Amino acid sequence: MSEVKIINKGEKFTHANAGSLKDFEGKEFLKDATGATSCELSFGTLPSGAAVPFFHSHKANEENYIILSGSGRFQVDTDAFDISEGSVIRVATNCDRNLKCTSREPMTYICIQAKENGLEGYTMTDAEINERESLL
Ligand code: ZN
Repeated sequence: MSEVKIINKGEKFTHANAGSLKDFEGKEFLKDATGATSCELSFGTLPSGAAVPFFHSHKANEENYIILSGSGRFQVDTDAFDISEGSVIRVATNCDRNLKCTSREPMTYICIQAKENGLEGYTMTDAEINERESLL
């Protein structure tokens, strides 16, 4: 498993890097590295044929899985379905979930865990467009 490194940090941001997602196996949690306060983030990888070794559920947090590469199967309680690159799966609280990589290439994914019903303003109701000199 790679190690998350803090690349740079300012008063209002933290930039961390977990390295190549293809070069580690398992799970890499990111909240502690970035100091995120609204959600837990993790990168996950599963080699061909592998599933997460356990089902689990959450009491207060929903999870959103974003599949970045590979394909496989996802199960929520008694429902199972195919997933592939680009799939986004939202899983509610109080149900068991797991995923398995069935492609030859490893599956890489992001999981975002946040308080169910915790989102209030977002995008256009929370964002403001500002004039600023670009340093990019
Ligand atoms: Zn979870």
